[in-house]
Amino acid sequence: MSDPVLVIGAGGLGCPASLALAQAGIRAMTLVDPDVVDGSNLHRQPWHHAADVGRPKVDSARQKLERAFPGLVVTTEQRAVDASNAQALFERHALVIDATDGVDTKFLLSDASVLTGTPVIYAGVLRFEGLAMRIERGGPCLRCLFETPPVDVPTCAQAGVLGSMAGLMGGLQARLARTPNATEGLAMLHVVDGHSLTFRQVKVRRRADCRTCNGERPVVLRDGRPVECAT
Ligand SMILES: [Zn+2]
Repeated sequence: MSDPVLVIGAGGLGCPASLALAQAGIRAMTLVDPDVVDGSNLHRQPWHHAADVGRPKVDSARQKLERAFPGLVVTTEQRAVDASNAQALFERHALVIDATDGVDTKFLLSDASVLTGTPVIYAGVLRFEGLAMRIERGGPCLRCLFETPPVDVPTCAQAGVLGSMAGLMGGLQARLARTPNATEGLAMLHVVDGHSLTFRQVKVRRRADCRTCNGERPVVLRDGRPVECAT
């Protein structure tokens, strides 16, 4: 696995994913998150403690990571990733962990991955179910999987999420970071059912009519409108 890795989101997925990446020997990592630590979700964000409430999440996570892994260089940016900055951020990194909580942002990161060639490890957790997939240039991307961003999908904060599921999926993201897809145009969607404790793998193929994978200018929906990525 090559450095540096960009971890977008320093919450329920970003905390366990960054821990597992550091344990795997990553030496340089960038954490990006606009938010401050909130006392209501400390149970699934192990880098953040009660004393950190109100601090920027990226500062809190960097402090704990550097304390646990003295050889690790952690850079932070307290801001949101959007269509104006995604491409530049991706191009400065070897791999991206999607640890965000929001459908539109996940599609933006998927588009940016196909556009720039920087792999992104997608994951989503809702209540007891987790999904994860590695996205690379050549696809498949999230638009191959879902075609368009699903509407009215609640965020983790709205629907609730089991803390241990976030930990499990963040660790799985770090594992997927180590292994490129074996075949261009084919990826495995990892589906984890936290109720039955079953793990499934579903083959996802690049869609022949996927605009992003076919090299058309990527777009992301924001407020219901298509917004083109900055290039
Ligand atoms: Zn696609």
